[in-house]
Amino acid sequence: MNEHKLTFFIYTMGCQMNVYESEMLNMYLLNYGLLKVQNIRNANIVIVNTCSVRKHAEQKAFSYLGRLIKYKNNKIIVIGCMAEHLQLQLKKRFKNIDLIIGRNDTNNMKRTVLTIMKFLYQYKPNYIKNVYIKSSIIRYLAIAKGCNNYCSYCIVPFVRGKEVSFHYQDIFNKCTFMVQSGAREIILLGQNVNSYSNHGVTFTQLLRKIATIEKLMRIRFMTNHPKDLNDDLIHAMSVIPKICPHIHLPIQSGSDKILYKMNRKYNYEQYINLINKLRIAIPSINITTDVIVGFPNETEEDFNKTLNAIRKIKFGKVYVFKYSQRPYTSASKIHDNISYLEKQRRHKIILEESNKISLALASQMIGSTQEVLIDKLNHNSIEATTYHGYKTFITINSTHNNIHIGQIINVKIINIKGTSLFGNTILNE
Ligand code: SF4
Repeated sequence: MNEHKLTFFIYTMGCQMNVYESEMLNMYLLNYGLLKVQNIRNANIVIVNTCSVRKHAEQKAFSYLGRLIKYKNNKIIVIGCMAEHLQLQLKKRFKNIDLIIGRNDTNNMKRTVLTIMKFLYQYKPNYIKNVYIKSSIIRYLAIAKGCNNYCSYCIVPFVRGKEVSFHYQDIFNKCTFMVQSGAREIILLGQNVNSYSNHGVTFTQLLRKIATIEKLMRIRFMTNHPKDLNDDLIHAMSVIPKICPHIHLPIQSGSDKILYKMNRKYNYEQYINLINKLRIAIPSINITTDVIVGFPNETEEDFNKTLNAIRKIKFGKVYVFKYSQRPYTSASKIHDNISYLEKQRRHKIILEESNKISLALASQMIGSTQEVLIDKLNHNSIEATTYHGYKTFITINSTHNNIHIGQIINVKIINIKGTSLFGNTILNE
């Protein structure tokens, strides 16, 4: 095989961590002279980065892998959570898969790349350099892997392993390097970023250190666990202008009974207290959340508590999921007694209610001036370039000539379509 002519295509499913890991893999493969292609038909190697968080995600991956059978000349490589816990099933069901690399390996992307290189070229490079071939304005960076929380419905601790916080100095160096190569916003990732701890350095201390990097304009982080969100972090968010006024804080349920069964380690009142603290400290904050409907034994009363929580808290966005049994988890031992139709009904109610609230919240921004870090440009417009960006996690669009990605601009909001805001550019001096 001529290594310089090999082309690859990565199909990514699941969470931001998977997006980040695909981005890393992409970078390493480019570094080895492989070519990335946008169309799967032109790819010699197809890498499928899978997700196991919900049954639905696994079914989607099965169906995708089934469709790949028609690409007979491609090498198919499967990585991610399914590759870890469904290896045998994947091998048995899809004879077209050439290589499966489990999560224990993909936790270390360098090791994954070494395995792929060995498979493609029958040799293992001695080491892999950290080369950032292409930088973009917004970059993800994992600060930890794994999780110790064992929420009763969640497969993550079983497929991604115990929580390990990466070395704080290494994270700082990577952030510095990303900024030097063009990044202006960094999104720190972890299954539970708030519980980060490395050589005595807490998550808030890490944030403070990263915020000192010159030319870095914005910092975000996800996901947060309510039990680990402390006053120190809320205070840092309120005083460090580089930290965006947005937090993703999964509530999962508004019922204490269900929260207890989920092993979430907080109750509704404690969650509301956090929301109040956040809103007092950072009045412009946009709070987004996750909700699971149809957890075993969730009664109509439990469900209504969740619905009332959504109405009371007014989240900027709710990601709502139907409960599905996951292997290894403690909830999988409880009979899944809520029918699919009932889960669908509850899902629809939460979605409709939360969409109304998102729209109302975004509409309140009409007439205000918002600071936008331009992350996307569309040159198709004849009169002016359309651009896109956000600060509070609500998309803002506007048009103007002579602007560039990475610029910070003020936009007077005049209109809303869907939940995207539109406005007039006010050029900064
Ligand atoms: S905090 Fe809970 S839901 Fe999140 S990854 Fe860990 S076990 Fe899963």
